[in-house]
Amino acid sequence: MKYVIIGAGPAGLNAAATLRRVDSGGDVTLLSGEATPPYAKMVLPYLLAGLMEEKNLFLPVPDNVTFRTGCKATRINTAQRTLETDTGETVEYDRLLIATGGVPERPVIQGSDYPFVLTIRDLPGVWQIQKLLKDKKKKGHAVIAGAGPVSMETGDALHRLGMKITLIVTSNRVFSTMLDVPGAAVVEEHLHKQGVDVLKGEDIVRIGSSGKITLKSGATLDSNLVVFGKGVNPCVAFLAESGIAVRRGITVNECMETSIPGIFAAGDAVETKDLVVGDQRVNALWPAAVEQGRIAALNMAGIAAGYDGSLSRNILRVFGLSIFVAGQGRADGPEIKVSTGAGLYHKIVMDKGILKGFIFIGEVRHEGLYREILQRQTGMGHFANALLRGGFTYGRFQRQAMRI
Ligand SMILES: Cc1cc2nc3c(=O)[nH]c(=O)nc-3n(C[C@H](O)[C@H](O)[C@H](O)COP(=O)(O)OP(=O)(O)OC[C@H]3O[C@@H](n4cnc5c(N)ncnc54)[C@H](O)[C@@H]3O)c2cc1C
Repeated sequence: MKYVIIGAGPAGLNAAATLRRVDSGGDVTLLSGEATPPYAKMVLPYLLAGLMEEKNLFLPVPDNVTFRTGCKATRINTAQRTLETDTGETVEYDRLLIATGGVPERPVIQGSDYPFVLTIRDLPGVWQIQKLLKDKKKKGHAVIAGAGPVSMETGDALHRLGMKITLIVTSNRVFSTMLDVPGAAVVEEHLHKQGVDVLKGEDIVRIGSSGKITLKSGATLDSNLVVFGKGVNPCVAFLAESGIAVRRGITVNECMETSIPGIFAAGDAVETKDLVVGDQRVNALWPAAVEQGRIAALNMAGIAAGYDGSLSRNILRVFGLSIFVAGQGRADGPEIKVSTGAGLYHKIVMDKGILKGFIFIGEVRHEGLYREILQRQTGMGHFANALLRGGFTYGRFQRQAMRI
């Protein structure tokens, strides 16, 4: 059996490892569009901040896998079961996995192609920033468009390197896809104390060659570095003529198989069931990519396995502040409990006694437990206050689970 995997992120690598385990006689080829060995993208901000060495970034390729770097799939011919690459080759497959991840949004505005204007999604992006900052005694001003997790982690890294940080936010708050207005206000107050400026309801409309930025309001700012962190889209453009069904991401069934039999997809490029909301969406997270890659590979090898779905969640520590959110933490409604304090915001959202989401800012405990409670979607109404305090323990959960 000829297995071909496009993309060597966690989805592709875990699929390759699983195939090697369950079908030792199969032929596994892993194609990567990047020039480097595979690496963990989620720790790029730590690398940028100097908190880890580059050699610890790289991920191992499983043994007995043909691994090709600098080889991008450009077109899939589903009728002939072949794909074309930008190196001019035609590769045959019996089973194909698309694990191409996401591409960062980069608005096309005047000046967005200057070398000091970047996104953080890959290693060359970090190298470019390192090169720009090298040998500069005064690191200068970094303007970051967007205030989601990746923008904020990048801002934190640049702040650690001594740069002044300004966040340009189109909406009315930071972390607008994760936090409600009061939660965001706690974060913004903390950022203010750290000397970070947040300009809300603004957007970058033009960047000059000297780094002068013009905003939507007409205001101007001087910058030494501009980072666009305005979100990531599934990397699916090359599938346009393939006949593979794509909405926002590639659509797959429970076996991670696309609309074309024999072609599977996993990771940030796909839409799967959201375990809390129940709809199909892209929950672009490392653990989801790992699990989806594994499930896809089992099915590619003819071993039936189902993927239940993913959970929207984020845990991060930025500018010294811990934030843990999951599910529908931003929601409003009658079964909501909130507790606040200096630099602290706790909120749980329930529906008929079932936990639907939460926000914890400032103090984060028992992450794994809270994630599991949300994932199980069982009645927890009696424990609402303990959940809100962050004091609900594994012991209590075990006793509750044994009663069900
Ligand atoms: C800065 C940063 C911080 C993050 N922090 C977290 C975090 O704290 N927690 C968390 O859970 N997740 C985090 N993530 C997200 C996490 O890294 C992704 O969810 C995960 O990497 C997705 O894995 P993937 O295998 O689907 O895709 P990717 O890891 O994106 O890998 C896909 C690979 O496919 C390659 N490719 C694309 N198109 C082609 C093609 N046509 N041919 C060949 N190769 C191709 C790409 O170059 C890429 O190397 C972070 C991401 C970033 C960038």
